[in-house]
Amino acid sequence: SSKLVIDSLMKHYPNVSRPAINKVSITIEAGEILALLGPSGCGKTTTLRSVAGLEQPTGGTISIDGIVVNDPANGIFVQPQRRNLGMVFQSYAVWPHMTVRENVAYPLLARKASAKEIRSKVDEALELVGLSDYIDRPVVALSGGQMQRVALARSLSYKPRLLLLDEPLSNLDAKLRIRLRDDLRKIIKEAGVTALYVTHDQAEAVVLGDRIGVMRDGELLQIDTPLGLYNNPA
Ligand code: ADP
Ligand code: ADP
Repeated sequence: SSKLVIDSLMKHYPNVSRPAINKVSITIEAGEILALLGPSGCGKTTTLRSVAGLEQPTGGTISIDGIVVNDPANGIFVQPQRRNLGMVFQSYAVWPHMTVRENVAYPLLARKASAKEIRSKVDEALELVGLSDYIDRPVVALSGGQMQRVALARSLSYKPRLLLLDEPLSNLDAKLRIRLRDDLRKIIKEAGVTALYVTHDQAEAVVLGDRIGVMRDGELLQIDTPLGLYNNPA
């Protein structure tokens, strides 16, 4: 798993005077889950998309395992596919008419893995998320929670060192959300991957995060363990 260092990150969108994120600094240790918590519009997604390489920050640096992947002042920008990370989004980014196996195999195929390697890695990823029995079902036959498990298996199948999750539970009904919330932490820890978990839901941040970063209006207000934040609220 990777160590992620975000240092004084800035993002100004064109024609918007207020920065979407303003000098955000966060270090996530290898194997740690950092929950980024705050209301809609506070800059969580911009931070996560910058780490992914889907957004170009306008200042500051991001490094993964000591390698600078973003440094606009020095013209450094490493392409998303070179960052060795996995992503899970709010909406199920799975192909509904393909089977579970085909969905999870996709990134392995794209990486030109052998048929044998694909079979074993797909099996392993589905075991991790508890969907081994569903391997040959079309995704369209699954529940929303199961679809998110497929998305998770797909993003873990190639063993990224860093996992980025953006509100992965917010399209689920309350019951599924709570069940998957508890499982998600176990799955991430078992995969041994470093994780950045974006949410506006305090309970989710407390259950998932080893530490929680609290954002408001583009700035990081506080960063501490759930207990530390409870004892010393903002
Ligand atoms: P979220 O669910 O993370 O809050 P939004 O629904 O606010 O996301 O935004 C969805 C998309 O719209 C994103 O791609 C975001 O970059 C873009 N977006 C959000 N706010 C603006 C804005 N003020 N101007 C232009 N695009 C925006
Ligand atoms: P969050 O994920 O916490 O909801 P975002 O990172 O999506 O917040 O947005 C932070 C701020 O940046 C918001 O004010 C949003 O409207 C603005 N924003 C996001 N995307 C764009 C965009 N493409 N163009 C202009 N403003 C944007």
